[in-house]
Amino acid sequence: MLFESLSLIEPILKALQEEGYTVPTPIQSQSIPLVLQGNDLLGCAQTGTGKTAAFAIPILQLLSANKTYDKKKKVRSLIITPTRELAVQIGESFRAYGRHTGLTCTVIFGGVNQNPQTAALRAGVDIVIATPGRLLDLMNQGHLTLRDVEIFVLDEADRMLDMGFIHDVKKMLTALPKKRQSLFFSATMPPEIVKLASTILQNPSKVSVTPVSSTVDIIKQCVYFVDKGNKNDLLIDILKDKNIKTALVFTRTKHGADKVVKVLLKHNIKTEAIHGNKSQNARQRALTNFKEQTTRILVATDIAARGIDVDDLEYVINYEMSNIAETYVHRIGRTGRAGAKGTAISFCDAEEKEYLRDVEKLIAKKIPVIENHAFPLMDHNPVKAPKQQQGRRNFRTNDSSAGRTGHQGPKPTGNNGQKKWFGKPKASR
Ligand code: AMP
Repeated sequence: MLFESLSLIEPILKALQEEGYTVPTPIQSQSIPLVLQGNDLLGCAQTGTGKTAAFAIPILQLLSANKTYDKKKKVRSLIITPTRELAVQIGESFRAYGRHTGLTCTVIFGGVNQNPQTAALRAGVDIVIATPGRLLDLMNQGHLTLRDVEIFVLDEADRMLDMGFIHDVKKMLTALPKKRQSLFFSATMPPEIVKLASTILQNPSKVSVTPVSSTVDIIKQCVYFVDKGNKNDLLIDILKDKNIKTALVFTRTKHGADKVVKVLLKHNIKTEAIHGNKSQNARQRALTNFKEQTTRILVATDIAARGIDVDDLEYVINYEMSNIAETYVHRIGRTGRAGAKGTAISFCDAEEKEYLRDVEKLIAKKIPVIENHAFPLMDHNPVKAPKQQQGRRNFRTNDSSAGRTGHQGPKPTGNNGQKKWFGKPKASR
């Protein structure tokens, strides 16, 4: 199926062509006709499936078909999404697909000066994309009203709940007109999400695409067992591969992210971090530099990385395994988007083996192990150091089987310096 067969108007088809889109993704081919017919929609889909265009394209078409000729534009469509990064990306998508329609949009999120946002609202916009907190704030200050909203989208509903936005969302719902079209998207559908959806949607059509595990299937995955203290060296070794033009590296903590940046910069690898301690502007700048490939490596924590969408991102590196298995899926879902190539490399130290087991259970497959590499795991059973010793990395007291004792010793020498990371994956360990 091609976009041409979805009865889209010429200005949108032209923009899609300019974007290089020809074939709709499954969520798009299912959702677009339903939304164009005016149905409410319950979509089970995660980012990476082409979900944004699945709602942005029909919204642009519906708003274009019923152009209003008021002197001042009214907010006719509202999209609520949990993070600033997602909001910015959705805004970029609306601008891209709607560039020939004459419709305008603006993005509203917290953590930055509100003046540019209120100025845009004063000038009048057709579409607002917002995070809940700042939106309510601006509503309370009288900078916008939702009474003219014709199409409402709640995006990433499950994350919205996880992040504690439920009350803000409920407050906002009361400000929307009863007569409206509503679209609701969530990657998962636990009972509380189904309940929330039922309060928003009327007689919705349902679409569901790519459950988590099948998205994971298209991404080439591998794991390196490595001692915690050798992860930096392994990362530098892997990044000697010039085929890795850019990579998104995940750490568990902000502090960890900053440490990785320092190490890579020392090795002249252009790196920036994106995490909650950075200002919104710094985060956006880092993301733009990364997208433009002036920065080769972006180091991110999970919260900050939510919604990061970089076209053609081929490599995700899990510097640390997350203790939440679903996070692995979200992380590696940053690559291999909309059918592109994707590779996810994970570093796993002895203490993280249980996290790896959880991941493998969730995705129902074994992740191939790279066996032949320069920094193999030596410290298989580290005993957590008592409090006063916790500063020492890899402290270990009782593993004689691995042939190493004590804390961080000299690096293993076997295969040292040889690039083996795509060596011999082995399915079992
Ligand atoms: P999303 O799930 O909305 O975050 O989209 C994931 C990525 O797929 C984004 O980078 C989009 O630009 C891209 N994309 C969405 N739809 C298509 C399409 N039909 N053809 C090619 N790329 C697409």
